Amino acid sequence: MNNNGQETPLGNILVVDDTPENLRLLSTMLIQRGYAPRCVINGQMALRACNSNPPDLILLDIMMPDMNGYEVCQHLKSEAKTREIPVIFISAKDEVFDKVNAFAVGAVDYISKPFQFEEVLARIESHLTLRKLQKQLTEQNVLLQEEINSRLAVEKVIHEKNTILQQEISTRRAVEQTLQEQNLILQQEIHNRQRAESALLKSNQELARSNAELEQFAYVASHDLQAPLATIASFAQLLEKRYQDRLDSQANKFIGNIVQGCTRMQTLIDDLLEYSRVGRSRKPFQPIDCNQVLEQAIANLQAVISDTQAVINYSELPVVTGDISQLIQLFQNLLGNAIKYRKATSPVVGITVCQHENKWLFSISDNGIGIAEQHQERIFQIFKRLHTQREYSGTGIGLAICQKIVERHGGSIWVESEPGQGSTFHFTIT
Ligand code: ADP
Repeated sequence: MNNNGQETPLGNILVVDDTPENLRLLSTMLIQRGYAPRCVINGQMALRACNSNPPDLILLDIMMPDMNGYEVCQHLKSEAKTREIPVIFISAKDEVFDKVNAFAVGAVDYISKPFQFEEVLARIESHLTLRKLQKQLTEQNVLLQEEINSRLAVEKVIHEKNTILQQEISTRRAVEQTLQEQNLILQQEIHNRQRAESALLKSNQELARSNAELEQFAYVASHDLQAPLATIASFAQLLEKRYQDRLDSQANKFIGNIVQGCTRMQTLIDDLLEYSRVGRSRKPFQPIDCNQVLEQAIANLQAVISDTQAVINYSELPVVTGDISQLIQLFQNLLGNAIKYRKATSPVVGITVCQHENKWLFSISDNGIGIAEQHQERIFQIFKRLHTQREYSGTGIGLAICQKIVERHGGSIWVESEPGQGSTFHFTIT
């Protein structure tokens, strides 16, 4: 317990007593036991000493002039800086000592004079230890509180993140559910389309089969009709030639009607045969120079071109892959119509070509009578005509042949027109 001079003092103790004898006694005793006492002789000095450098413990005499020990103690306990310093009162035996008041003003203990050293030391030690423990407890409390606060802060962050995560999970679940629903709808849609597609495929096959049958029938019928028709026509002509003088004018008119009907039927049969031949052709496709095709079609139409003084404008045409006789037929039908369905003025026909989605797009435009919108799709059907024979002769098979040829060459055909403003027939070929 001895202070060896070098070691840190056991405690900084303020001794307050107005009796110098007592002060000396206590101070010597404390120094001997390793403490660093400071001695003051009145209450004012004690308060000042506490404020400038708060001690670890105060030994406080009660009976002092000006300010007694109770008052000093009260002052100390009212200041935050000095409130926690343990105060031990020292009272003389003959003094009237109010223990209850001593504890009430905040003292931790008391010692009666004359005191025994060992008792004083034991009390000082025990209160210093208590104070130390109290300090440690307070510090630990602070640390604990900090720890609690930081944990609470972490917990709060975790809670917030958890809330965000929960929201994210709910959003994702909602999205997932929507996706699942859409997937279901899509699956249903795919299923429906597959069903529709297979139904379409089936009806397409059915259509192709019945088309082939019809084609076969048309071919056979027209082919077989040719011979009896030729017989009727030639006998009617013979009748006309040999008996013209012996028959009256009405009989001659009837015979004329028969001959005319036969000629018309012959044209129909020829066109029908032509139509059924398009699908039956087995000629392999070859590179075809469309300039040559057009020249041939124009040559075939030379008579009507010069009759009507038609002007045909065109530029350089490309080489395509196809069947030359069918392509000539295609150009010839479209050019023939462009001239046939003319207005009072001379026909002017333009032929242009450009590339469109890896195909050649041909356009044949005229300055003719034009076609009303409601007829523009129907005119490609076989036998579909918009005029009487008297107005414009024809069989209604020409455009059906054109459509068949174009489709055989992997393209499509359509018309753009306005009545009175001319027409433009477009077709594509690969
Ligand atoms: P056809 O000329 O023998 O009647 P098409 O199949 O060639 O038969 O034509 C069908 C119908 O389309 C024609 O009757 C005619 O009314 C109309 N048409 C075709 N080409 C033209 C055109 N360039 N201008 C106006 N009408 C046309």
